[in-house]
Amino acid sequence: MSELDSNLMSALREAADDPVGYAQTWKARHDRRVVGSFPMNFPAELVHAAGALPVVIQDSGTPITEGRNLLAEFYCGYTRSVADQVALGRLDVFDAFVAADHCVQLLGAVDVIRWARPDKPLHFAQFTSAMDDAWTKPRVAGRIDELENELEAVCGAVTAEEVATSIRLFNRNRRLLRELYDLRRSGRARITASEMQTLVKSSMVMDIEEHTAALVCLLDGLDVAAETPADLVRLHLSGHFCHAPRPEILDVIEESGVLVADDDLYTGFRYISTDVPESGDPLDALAQWYLDRNRNAPCPTRVTIGVDWDTYLLDSLDKSHADGVVVLMAKFCEPHMLYYPELRKALDARGIPSLLLETEHEGNPVETLRTWVETFVERIRRRRVLTLA
Ligand code: SF4
Repeated sequence: MSELDSNLMSALREAADDPVGYAQTWKARHDRRVVGSFPMNFPAELVHAAGALPVVIQDSGTPITEGRNLLAEFYCGYTRSVADQVALGRLDVFDAFVAADHCVQLLGAVDVIRWARPDKPLHFAQFTSAMDDAWTKPRVAGRIDELENELEAVCGAVTAEEVATSIRLFNRNRRLLRELYDLRRSGRARITASEMQTLVKSSMVMDIEEHTAALVCLLDGLDVAAETPADLVRLHLSGHFCHAPRPEILDVIEESGVLVADDDLYTGFRYISTDVPESGDPLDALAQWYLDRNRNAPCPTRVTIGVDWDTYLLDSLDKSHADGVVVLMAKFCEPHMLYYPELRKALDARGIPSLLLETEHEGNPVETLRTWVETFVERIRRRRVLTLA
């Protein structure tokens, strides 16, 4: 049962469910620009510093129609949905688009925007993916400079102080969200997986100060003394890049007598894992953030020597005391498919039960998923009994 203020949560859910509607209302109210960005590495602080609303473009729940002719069926649902939304004019509220790459399929979606909306400013910053080379940080800093210049062309001049202010605002928001993660992990507050998704997803699309004010109220009203029922199986949700898994999947998981204790989902802890340094040159700080993020929540699209997702995942399980892992994988997500065998090997070697659920844009067989999850949870329960015997 939820402990979060229901009125505040429904306001956040409304923005998370309809980011374009939120952007239209915000634009009309503030008479300022809105800029759409693509996951997973774009620093929203830059757009905010330019006086515009940064919005991470989300997957749409509607079936893909026009987009079918623009990207092949073997592109992931997110990129096909973006192509569809652009072709149907549903992203026309955005005054510009920005991306910091990580994936070939995303490039396809960016090309569709260039083709469908040739007049719309679109800046694609190629961030280096090998993180340890001596030239990586200066190159990333160079890309961030270019991004700033492009944004200035759309929104007007940006000062270093404005970037520093935006960094502080976004750090505060991330810290509050991580506080909620800590409370959930420790079992001192009950926050469901779909509520956590709403909290993070709304932070990706809303005015950051408005969102932070809502988080402060939610935290103030939260009953942190609540006890977590001991019989619930604790799970970690892993993966699902670029867009949020459908809430019905999260509900099916939790309806199986499960407590989601932690996650490394993109629309989850991955998005808020890392703060931007608040001292020094703010643009350099954004480049440092990019490097730091891959240490805090490693991504298979990036390479940092001595850092890998499987070790990070095992460490996270130690902290959250999760009994098992549900890997949520968007169908045709190549980086995830390529890395998954490593994850599975590491979990198996530790004897940690895991379940892979592949999600589809076109709809998920909820009752089949329910059977799989219930069987998985039962397996964990029996293991517990055997361990105690
Ligand atoms: S990382 Fe995966 S989900 Fe994201 S654009 Fe690439 S294929 Fe799609």
